[in-house]
Amino acid sequence: MNNDKTLHSEINKVITLLKAKKSIIAFTGAGISTESGIPDFRGPQGVWKKYRPIELSEFLQDPESRALYWQRKIDMYPQMKNAVPNKGHLALFELYKKNFLQYVITQNIDGLHQRAGMPDDRVIELHGSNTYIACLDCRKRYEWEDILPLFEKQSTSPKCDECGGWLKPATISFGQAILEYETNEAERIASAADAIIVIGSSLQVYPAVGIPVTTKMNGGSVVIINMEPTGQDEIADCLLHGPAGDILQAIAEGVDERAI
Ligand code: NAD
Ligand code: ZN
Repeated sequence: MNNDKTLHSEINKVITLLKAKKSIIAFTGAGISTESGIPDFRGPQGVWKKYRPIELSEFLQDPESRALYWQRKIDMYPQMKNAVPNKGHLALFELYKKNFLQYVITQNIDGLHQRAGMPDDRVIELHGSNTYIACLDCRKRYEWEDILPLFEKQSTSPKCDECGGWLKPATISFGQAILEYETNEAERIASAADAIIVIGSSLQVYPAVGIPVTTKMNGGSVVIINMEPTGQDEIADCLLHGPAGDILQAIAEGVDERAI
């Protein structure tokens, strides 16, 4: 962690930098949502300490894995449903309203940027969303409230009433194809940005790493906010090691609304 004085002067540096930039985007990982009570994957309390992820092939081929997958999702459903945006999500929305943020590209599946106020078409969800359910074959959308009661009536996993495909929360599992539209949009937006603020991502694995690198290679500036060092600290123009909520709030308070 930076000490308070370093952090304070780095926050001022970010504010000055943002004022000089037009096209600003944010890239968020699990770390922006830990302050909303949703654990990250790789941190000390991370989900991977408890669960081995279930790959798509296992979900498709093995009824037991499929049942276990759903059971975990159902167990985590109340936490997801009740999670509320924290200071960090709200500060990003504040920056958006003040014309200091155009898009949020996120690895998160919790929908908290939209709950904080960000319009749907300003949030690119690279790994899909846990807030609804989709058919793996035809992508028909289903709501949790309609699917949950099925588990009380039947013991098998639910199928699509349209095409018979398996239903699954609309997140990208390991072994599942990436979302092409979202991935292309992220690439386009990251290339065009004058500045990117990366928040709560360990930046250890591709394609996450590629996003700030793309902005940097196209001449944009990189701000990294994370509790601990990331895999890409060396490309940061401003580096802030500390809690995302307080830092983002201070940044959002440091700028006034501007004309587009
Ligand atoms: P990660 O777990 O690899 O890294 C999270 C980083 O955030 C860590 O480096 C940690 O130090 C930092 N962090 C934790 N709390 C913080 C705070 N309060 N302020 C600042 N930094 C903080 O997460 P990742 O790199 O985003 O990738 C893991 C994958 O996990 C993603 O693909 C994502 O889809 C998925 N995931 C999503 C959620 C969610 O939707 N909320 C939760 C867990 C995992
Ligand atoms: Zn279907």
